[in-house]
Amino acid sequence: MSRIARVIVDLSLDKAFDYLIPPPLAARIVIGVRVRVPFGNSFRLGYVLALSDHSDFEEQLKTIESLGDGRTQLPEALIKLGSWMAEYYCCTQEQAIRSLLPGAVRLGRIKPKTLTVYRVAEPEKARQYIEANAGREKAQGRVNLLKVLLEQPGLAADVLLNLAETTVSPLQGLVKNGLVAKSEQLLRRNPFSDSTVLPSAPLPANAEQQAALERVRAMLEGREKRHVMLLHGVTNSGKTEVYLQSIAMALELNRSAIVLVPEISLTPQTVRRFRARFGDKISVLHSRLSDGERFDEWNRINDGIVQIVVGARSALFAPFRNLGLIIVDEEHEASYKQSEAPRYHARDVAVMRGLLEQAAVILGSATPSFESYRNALEKRYVLVEMLHRVDDKLLPSVKVVDLRLGAPEPGEKKSGLFTKILIQAIQERLQLGEQTILFLNRRGFARQMLCESCGYVAGCPSCSVPYTYHRKEEMLSCHLCGSMIEAPECCPSCGAAEIRYSGSGTEKIESLAAAIFRGAKVVRMDSDSIRAGNSHEAILDRFRKGEIDILIGTQMIAKGLHFPNVTLVGIINADQGLYLPDFRACERTFQLLTQVAGRAGRGDVRGEVIIQTFSPANDTIRFAVSQDFKAFYQYDMTVREALHYPPDGHLMVLNFRSLDAEAGMQYAARCMELLRPFCHDEIIVSEPAPAPIEKIKTKYRFQIIFRGRKLKQLRQALRELTLRRRHPEGIELYLDIDAQSLL
Ligand code: ADP
Ligand code: ZN
Repeated sequence: MSRIARVIVDLSLDKAFDYLIPPPLAARIVIGVRVRVPFGNSFRLGYVLALSDHSDFEEQLKTIESLGDGRTQLPEALIKLGSWMAEYYCCTQEQAIRSLLPGAVRLGRIKPKTLTVYRVAEPEKARQYIEANAGREKAQGRVNLLKVLLEQPGLAADVLLNLAETTVSPLQGLVKNGLVAKSEQLLRRNPFSDSTVLPSAPLPANAEQQAALERVRAMLEGREKRHVMLLHGVTNSGKTEVYLQSIAMALELNRSAIVLVPEISLTPQTVRRFRARFGDKISVLHSRLSDGERFDEWNRINDGIVQIVVGARSALFAPFRNLGLIIVDEEHEASYKQSEAPRYHARDVAVMRGLLEQAAVILGSATPSFESYRNALEKRYVLVEMLHRVDDKLLPSVKVVDLRLGAPEPGEKKSGLFTKILIQAIQERLQLGEQTILFLNRRGFARQMLCESCGYVAGCPSCSVPYTYHRKEEMLSCHLCGSMIEAPECCPSCGAAEIRYSGSGTEKIESLAAAIFRGAKVVRMDSDSIRAGNSHEAILDRFRKGEIDILIGTQMIAKGLHFPNVTLVGIINADQGLYLPDFRACERTFQLLTQVAGRAGRGDVRGEVIIQTFSPANDTIRFAVSQDFKAFYQYDMTVREALHYPPDGHLMVLNFRSLDAEAGMQYAARCMELLRPFCHDEIIVSEPAPAPIEKIKTKYRFQIIFRGRKLKQLRQALRELTLRRRHPEGIELYLDIDAQSLL
């Protein structure tokens, strides 16, 4: 047995410390277990990362004090995954371990919830008591209590007293004289306690689904060398059904499964489909769980009570010990990348976890990320395509409308971004009793406030972006830092009253739609309307019931929704986002347009999509219209290859934030000099420069961008620089490995 344990202490040090294992604990100290160790002048909790027989610090070693908590033990494979993350994403060991464990479990403040229940201690004695005291008025309460408990042992006090029609004092009397025993029963804080779902059976798979499932089976049974499959399936091709049946296969082999979905698509609709198929075997993790619920769900997984987890990013770290399958739905989603340290990409970590635990990984999408698609084309991943909708329903027809031609004729009322074609199409739907979704990925009323007299644009003083105008509140708000001011009535700069609001947001589209389509029920869904108290679920529920004719929204409505009566999707302005200074701008636009378009025609009537744009000749828009992912990939990939942007090479961004612009820029230049020796020929460096959004929350931002191959040494140097070096006061550094965006 090993004598020494390497322990990571819950402190922000990128270091593990060696401790002696006290012989009485030797059998129970294993990798991943939580221990209490002396540290400085006090004791701290930590996790055992490794075991060994010798240490470089042999003489000075302290001894582990005790086991922290027998229940919280991380599987060894997860500890390995954490070490890989710390190395690859250049974060500390401790940051990596933190992301493996929800705070509710790690911090030890949440306790299991229990309920006191009562039962008769010895039935024989209880019966004797009932017999001896029958009819005695003073003993009525006790007799009733015993009768109830003999029939139904294990009742909680409130239910018991109710049934026995008595008060608490006879119960206390019975406990005192030993006729009734009380005990603590573990309670689950059940997030589903208020809803039930009807069970569903597997649907007979169609040919494409059958083929996909065969490949999954081969992976699960170890007949396929590669462990990752890319499932490229158009919207409504039945991917979710493939996931469900794949999970069932894993369960048959006694292995568990993790399903990752973007938080935004963790809608009750999606969750219900999984619950309907797997009932109590499933645990759902999302950001709206209370700490108590999260604690209980984690322990149910850890104790092997559930076999399936559905959740957002962090569900990837579910402590299964017999993992068989990981599914990453909508694998192209940018939200799989965590925005604070460790800045890991859940899809990539999923691939690594699958490798470490010999689990199959399915990446699914209608618009795969270029990274995954390239891996599939180069045969590192198994590629499975499902290019037809279920039952061969047609993909929606897509029409492009040129917004430049939308100007009103003389004498015609100006209808903003509603072109005649769009208005007509909506009117037809209203007459037929069908529903419409209108999409615009910008909330608020107007994108900016402009003085027509002096050209002043109202902007946030803390960030380098214009304020957005919100008409209902008569406020200007900054969408980066959240600050708000009252909308001025005349120009704060020159005093003129000629204020113009330009660039429409969802709030404006909502008010225009209400004016154009009188009598129609128009509802807006974006983070503002949700904050104002209209819950996500409530709106979707009304939409499903047909109480809403036109649903207007931001990307919140782009994903995962399945409403058969929606026959028209209007994209108000497809160009938004297209010209952002980011190499993924086209990819994001293509994905978003495809996803939104996929909401149309999921029922019996063929759907129609109207894409409004100022640039109908733009290549990305053209490929989105023809819904041709492969052609778009070929097109955009040539651009990336020419510039060595991912997936042609990796991308690492070193970010600087500083209150003082000058000092920030100087320090960035200094760091560049330190890093230069590690930048060989195959690495392209963009020298220190202001970030595209130069200032956020009063801090100036600079970045150095590295891209290319063979980055190991540079990565090591960057790790040293960001984690070990002391930076000047007031300057923050952070590194983003495989950055998803340059903004
Ligand atoms: P995707 O995840 O690709 O968008 P879904 O799995 O949600 O597709 O399937 C779309 C719709 O088709 C759902 O209503 C689903 O119940 C139905 N469906 C999926 N597979 C089948 C099948 N084999 N037979 C009949 N209906 C199916
Ligand atoms: Zn701001």
